[in-house]
Amino acid sequence: RFITLEGGEGAGKTTQIRLLADALIGWGKRVVLTREPGGSPGAEEIRGLLVSGETGRWGPVTEALLHTAARRDHLERTVWPALEAGHWVICDRFFDSTMAYQGYGLGLGRDLVAALQATALGDFRPDLTLILDLPVEDGLARAAARRGGEDRYERMDVAFHHRLRDGFLDIAAREPERCVVVDAGHPVETVEASILDTVTRRLGA
Ligand code: C5P
Ligand code: MG
Repeated sequence: RFITLEGGEGAGKTTQIRLLADALIGWGKRVVLTREPGGSPGAEEIRGLLVSGETGRWGPVTEALLHTAARRDHLERTVWPALEAGHWVICDRFFDSTMAYQGYGLGLGRDLVAALQATALGDFRPDLTLILDLPVEDGLARAAARRGGEDRYERMDVAFHHRLRDGFLDIAAREPERCVVVDAGHPVETVEASILDTVTRRLGA
């Protein structure tokens, strides 16, 4: 099974994915926890190119290509072998982030990003995608508190983050059989319970 967590800045993806991994391990599953951009040695190198540069180092199309190249390597080296071996793979961000950030946020549009994903993924899709949703101001406040407000790759332009949030919600509305929107504004334990309930209902964990 392949589960992805998505959402904007400060939505709590990393916290929730660890809690989900712990729960699945507790239920006797073998779990691989991974992340994007990154998740394989080559893809982590590409992540370095993305996050170490100042915002605007790469043009939007190049940025989308770098994310997508990293994704292909991550799939080949990490995700597909783990699924093949019968593990549950849970991933902190996946292709919906490229659609939301570069497609909606930076304005590349759905068609261009979808074409790149078709090249990198073929028909491969997550079994379940949890979209952690939070009002833009709340997410930015959380992200700023966490990082002292200075992560170079985090764009702080509020309009961008509104496009991003609306983008994730649009993706979820288009693919309700794959995507579930989780209200990330609740306390950690409440969000955790809601995620475990969704995973059980959808995937019979
Ligand atoms: O998941 P995490 O917050 O660690 O992601 C690292 C950074 O990469 C984030 O600040 C996010 O804004 C950025 N990102 C992006 N485009 C993507 C995926 C992530 O700008 N497609
Ligand atoms: Mg995170």
